[in-house]
Amino acid sequence: MFWQQEMETLGRDELNALQLERLRTTIERAARSPFYKHRLAKAGVGASDIKSLDDLRRIPFTTKQDLRDSYPHGMLAAPLEQVVRLHGSSGTTGQSTVIFHTQRDLDTWTDLVARGLVMAGGGPADVFQNMMSYGLFTGGLGLHYGAERIGMLVIPAGSGNTRRQITLMRDFGTTVIHITPSYALHVSTAFAVHEVDPRGLKLRIGVFGAEPYSEETRQKLERLLHLDGYNCYGLSEMNGPAVAFECSKKNGLHVWEDSFIVEVIDSDTTEPVEEGGEGELVFTTINREAMPILRYRTRDRSAIVPGPCACGRHHRRIRAIVGRTDDMLILGGVNVFPSQVEAVLMRIPEVGTNYQIVLDRVGELDRMTVRVELSSKSFHGDIKELRAISGRVTHELRDELVVNPTVELLEPDTLEPSMGKAVRVVDNREKR
Ligand code: ADP
Ligand code: ZN
Repeated sequence: MFWQQEMETLGRDELNALQLERLRTTIERAARSPFYKHRLAKAGVGASDIKSLDDLRRIPFTTKQDLRDSYPHGMLAAPLEQVVRLHGSSGTTGQSTVIFHTQRDLDTWTDLVARGLVMAGGGPADVFQNMMSYGLFTGGLGLHYGAERIGMLVIPAGSGNTRRQITLMRDFGTTVIHITPSYALHVSTAFAVHEVDPRGLKLRIGVFGAEPYSEETRQKLERLLHLDGYNCYGLSEMNGPAVAFECSKKNGLHVWEDSFIVEVIDSDTTEPVEEGGEGELVFTTINREAMPILRYRTRDRSAIVPGPCACGRHHRRIRAIVGRTDDMLILGGVNVFPSQVEAVLMRIPEVGTNYQIVLDRVGELDRMTVRVELSSKSFHGDIKELRAISGRVTHELRDELVVNPTVELLEPDTLEPSMGKAVRVVDNREKR
């Protein structure tokens, strides 16, 4: 199913031509902002220098620090009277940044969200419960307007207040939810507490995004919540959710390439990685008026899925994001992403829905402790059994990730549940 069939099924050559044309317009527009006026002049590039898409590489990168330095208005490329909304990053990694939108920007973004929801199988008969927080964070209003545009009944529930969430689902027959995977894990355990059987609900589609998660977690959520899970990726600098969205083939997320140019670079050399290789995602907005951003370094790690997709869309796909470079843990010379730890944990049936990674320094060595909640089904305090589970978790983590963690098993509901983006890692190493 398509929302904007013509644009979604545009051929590769046409997409490239459109990108080139829009890139030129974007550069012209960007140069109206104080930041890019200076940046582009210094680099000696202008719209007329862009003869092919490869010339994109002549433009310098934009970083989070650039956004911070030009806070609040330095990257604004439109007169304030044309600007109708401001969003901010959730500030996961430091001082927040702001992004401005014109009405046209919001309309375009709304359609990208609508494309994703329709691609996942949503339609006007759906009841959409948005369980992401509203406010400056883009996960609230972003999905909200996309779902409304399709004609879904939208429940702007926000995040948290799990009991009320479950009541809303039950009373209004919610069919589609938008939620972070970590909060979804928590909600899945809360059904039992509130004596509601998710099989009796009408849930059918789960849009999971805003944080990294593994295929194992998706499958666990699909099982626990009785729905079909779809990955939705985005970042406030590129509007927010629905920069890329999974189609029904679930082999990567289609980047809406009529709105963004995607590159994958080696973070150290900043050179493009070879086709299909893992690296850092870099995006350029090519359909935004108020605040165009050129070659934004996301620090998110992913790779392009090579080849065409059987769904009929030529918009290239990226693999599910493993994590941000900043989140990578380096333990005894081995690099580990929290999402890799999660993948191992979530395929062990005795493991519950919450976990935490604690890092300490013992002498010269870093030590990782993985604190794991057991599922309520597996928790009955038999020491021998607990020891076996602990041994298995340790063994699988060691086998898979080549690190040697200490595993600590916990009763269900010991750790603070996540209502939004989960904070999985507690790093005690600097404090010593
Ligand atoms: P902040 O940078 O403060 O977290 P944002 O709300 O803009 O602010 O968050 C965007 C970031 O969230 C992305 O750069 C990425 O790291 C993460 N993210 C969003 N969606 C996904 C997803 N589907 N999978 C993995 N990570 C995601
Ligand atoms: Zn597809």
